Amino acid sequence: MQYFIDVILPIPLEKLFTYAVSKEEAEFLCPGMRVGVPFGKSKIYTALVYQVHTDAPKLYEAKEIDRILDEHPIVNTVQLKHWQWIADYYMCTIGEVFRSAVPGAFLLESETLILRNDKEEVDESTLEDDEFLVYEALQHQSALKVQEVSAIVDRKNILPVLNRLIEKNVVLLKEEMYEQYKPKLIRYVKLGKVYLEEAKLEALLNDLSRAPKQSQVVLSLFQLQATSKKPIKVTELENISGGSKSVIKSLVNKGILEEYFIRTDRVNYEGDEGGELKALNEYQQKAFDDISESFKEDKVTLLHGVTSSGKTEVYVRLIEECVQRGQQALYLLPEIALTTQLISRLQEYFGELVSVFHSKYSVQERVEVYNNVLLKENKAQIVIGARSALFLPFSDLGLIIVDEEHESSFKQFDPAPRYHARDAAVVLAKLHKANILLGSATPSIESFYNAKIGKYGYAEISRRYGNVLMPDIELVDLKEQSRKRRMKGHFSERLFLGIQEALEAGEQVILFQNRRGYAPIVECTTCGHSPQCPNCDVSLTYHQYKKQLRCHYCGYHMALQKSCQACGSPTLDTKGFGTEQVEKELETLFPDAKTWRMDLDTTRGKHGYEKIITAFEQQEMDILVGTQMLTKGLDFRNVSLVGIMNADSLLNFPDYRAHERCFQLLTQVAGRAGRTKKRGKVLIQSYNPYHQILQQVSTHDYDSMFKEQLYEREQYKYPPNNRVIRITFKHKEYNKLNEATEWFAKALRTTLGGNVLGPEYPPVARVRNLYLKNVLIKIPHAQSAVKTKAAIKRIEKSFHSVGQYRSVRVIYNVDHI
Ligand code: ADP
Ligand code: ZN
Ligand code: ZN
Repeated sequence: MQYFIDVILPIPLEKLFTYAVSKEEAEFLCPGMRVGVPFGKSKIYTALVYQVHTDAPKLYEAKEIDRILDEHPIVNTVQLKHWQWIADYYMCTIGEVFRSAVPGAFLLESETLILRNDKEEVDESTLEDDEFLVYEALQHQSALKVQEVSAIVDRKNILPVLNRLIEKNVVLLKEEMYEQYKPKLIRYVKLGKVYLEEAKLEALLNDLSRAPKQSQVVLSLFQLQATSKKPIKVTELENISGGSKSVIKSLVNKGILEEYFIRTDRVNYEGDEGGELKALNEYQQKAFDDISESFKEDKVTLLHGVTSSGKTEVYVRLIEECVQRGQQALYLLPEIALTTQLISRLQEYFGELVSVFHSKYSVQERVEVYNNVLLKENKAQIVIGARSALFLPFSDLGLIIVDEEHESSFKQFDPAPRYHARDAAVVLAKLHKANILLGSATPSIESFYNAKIGKYGYAEISRRYGNVLMPDIELVDLKEQSRKRRMKGHFSERLFLGIQEALEAGEQVILFQNRRGYAPIVECTTCGHSPQCPNCDVSLTYHQYKKQLRCHYCGYHMALQKSCQACGSPTLDTKGFGTEQVEKELETLFPDAKTWRMDLDTTRGKHGYEKIITAFEQQEMDILVGTQMLTKGLDFRNVSLVGIMNADSLLNFPDYRAHERCFQLLTQVAGRAGRTKKRGKVLIQSYNPYHQILQQVSTHDYDSMFKEQLYEREQYKYPPNNRVIRITFKHKEYNKLNEATEWFAKALRTTLGGNVLGPEYPPVARVRNLYLKNVLIKIPHAQSAVKTKAAIKRIEKSFHSVGQYRSVRVIYNVDHI
C-alpha cells in the first residue's frame, strides 16, 4: 500500500497537490499540520496537510515530502472548511487563503545555500578571480548564503558567478528552511543563593561598602524579593535602584546576582481587572433581551443603536455570558489601530482574558496570539481584532461581535482573498454554531434589509445613554456664504463663530476633511499644466509640510518646483484642499488654539494614533483636524462642536454605495459631538445643502435613507437583491488590455446575457504603470451565483489559453465595495 497526502500550497494553484509519504508518516500526519515540500525546480514550500489517503495521483508522479514541520495541527478542521468557503465564494484559491490566514512566520521560507561539491576534483587554475574567491571561502566553511557570496564577490547579481561555478562542478545549491519566529526572552535577576542567608548578605554589604552603587542595587533587589513573589525584571531593578546596566552586569559577573530568562508574550496586559459591569439602562436591557431571544432561534442579529447609545456595554454583557460558558469570544472591529479606547474598556472588565490581534503588531506578536488561541490559553479567551482575526484557530467559539458592521474596511481589497469580514464571520459563526451580533449606528443597507425581511434578528437602541440629546445638525450653504463674502479661507462665518464659541467655553472641536495633504491639485495658472504621477494617471497631491508632491496611489514623490515644469512661469496655484490646509488656516484664524492633525501622515508607526487620541482625550489640544479616521467609535467627553469642511466630495463618487456611505460617514462623525449632558452641535458645510442625503443626515432619518437607497438599488439591479462581481483586468500595454477586455466581456455576454457592464476604465485608469479596466457582472436573485461563478471561471480558462492574453491579470472582486 502506498500513502499520499494532499496539501495546500501558499500560492495561487487551482488544485491541491499530492505528495508521497511513508506508512509511518501517514500514521503521524493529520490535516492542519505543516510539511515542507519540494515544488518547481528547487524551491521548498511550507504546505498544509489537507488530507491523508492512498490514491496515487493519475497525472503526475507524486514527489516525496521534504520534512514534517509540526507535531500537532496548527489549523483545525473548522478553519479548513471556512477557508474552502472563502475560496469558493470569493473566487480565489485555497492557497491564497492559507497564505493570508496564518501569520507569515508559519510559512517558513526556504533559503538557497551554496555548498562545496565534494564529489568533484577542482582544477583551481580554471577558475576566474571571482569564482576562486567563492571557492576559497568554501574551503573554510561548508555552506554560504546568497548574501555572503554577494559580499565576497562584491556584487549584487551573483547569478553569473554561481552559474559558472555550477557548470564547473565546484558548487551545489541547496534549499534550506528557516524559521522567522523567535520567542521573546525577558531578562530577570535574583540574588545569588548563598546571599539569601542574612549573615552572608551582611558580609556582602560590608564588602561592597566602598561601592555604594553596587550595594544600592543589592539592597533594592533584596527588598523587592522580600515584598513580591513575582520574578524581578532587570529593567525593573534598574529603575528602582538607579543602578546602571554596567553596575548590574558587574554584579552578575561576580556571581552576586544571577541572571535568568523567561519566554514571554510580547502582548501582555499589566493592570487591574475585575472592574464592575455597568448596570444596563432600560433601553440597553430591552436590546439585550431581544438579542438573547434572537440568539435562541440561532439567528444572526443586528443591533441598531444610535451613536453613544451604549452598544459597547451590551456587547460586554454578551461576552461575559460567553466567557461564563467557557467559550471563546471574538470581537471584530474595522481597524484595530483605531481602538485603543475600546481595548482598555474591555480590559477593565476582563483583564487578562483579552488578547488583541493587531495589524501593526510584529509577526512575532501575531504568532503569540495565534498560539495562545490554538492552545486555548485563558489569555486568549476573548480576542479583539481586525478582519484577519477571523483566521485564528478558534476551537470553541461561542460569540462573534462585528462592531461598526457597515464599515467598508471590513472588505479586503488586495491581495486575494478579497473577502468581507462581516460576511465571512457569519459563515464562521455557523460552522461553530456560535452566536453572532452585528452592531452599528448606521447599518449597511444589506444588513438592515436582512433584518427587515426577517432573515436576521433585530434589536434597537434609539436613545443616547443618559438621555443625552442627539447632536443638533445644521447645514451651512457655502454658495450663499461666498456670495455674501462671508468665507475666511475654507471656513464659513457660521463655522468660524461656532469654533470661537466652543473655544471660549473651554470645549473641544473636531473638524473633518476627507483628504489629506495640503491640496490635491497643483495647477499653473498660465498654461494649465498640473504635475501628474509618472506611474499613475492621477495628479500629485501637494504636501506643504514636506514641500513635496506625492502620489497617494503609488507613493511616488518629488520636491515642489518653484515654477511650472511645462511653461516656466512661477504662477503655480492649488485647487481643492486637504487636512494640512485646514490646519494651516486654523493657525491664522485661531492663533491661540492648540490644533492637531490626525490622518495617515501623522499616525504612522505603532502608537502614532494612540498618542493623538490620548492627548485629545486629556484635553491637551483644542481642535483636532482629521480624515475619516476620526469617525470610528471614539468616545470623547468634551467635544461640543463637529465641523464638516466640505460634504460635497463625499456625494460625488461614481459608485452605487456613495450615498449610503456619505450618510454613514457624516452620521458617525456627527456622533462624536456632545456625548455628555450638553447637546452637541454639528455644522456641515456644502454647496448642495438641499441634497436629500444631507437632509436625511441632519434629521437623523435613517429609515428614509434606507427606503430611498433600497429603491434605487432595486431599480439598477444592485445588492441586496442582486449580487455583483467586479472583474478588474491589468496590463502594462494599453492596446492589449483593450483588446483582451473586449474579448472577455464578449464571452461573458454570450453566456450571461445583458447583465454585463463594461469594460470601462476606472477613474484612475493607470496605477503603478499598469492600465486597469473593469467589467461588472450583476447576478439577479433568481440566477444561481454558484453556476455563474463557474461559468466565469470557464471563460477565464479559455481566455488564458489565448497566447497573447496570458499575461493579462484577471482579478475578481465578489460583492465589491
Ligand atoms: P456606542 O458604542 O453606542 O456609541 P458607548 O458604548 O461608547 O456607545 O457608550 C457611550 C457612553 O455612555 C460611554 O462613555 C459609556 O461609558 C456610557 N455608558 C453606556 N452605557 C452605560 C451604562 N449602562 N452605565 C453607565 N455608563 C454607560
Ligand atoms: Zn505653466
Ligand atoms: Zn503614482
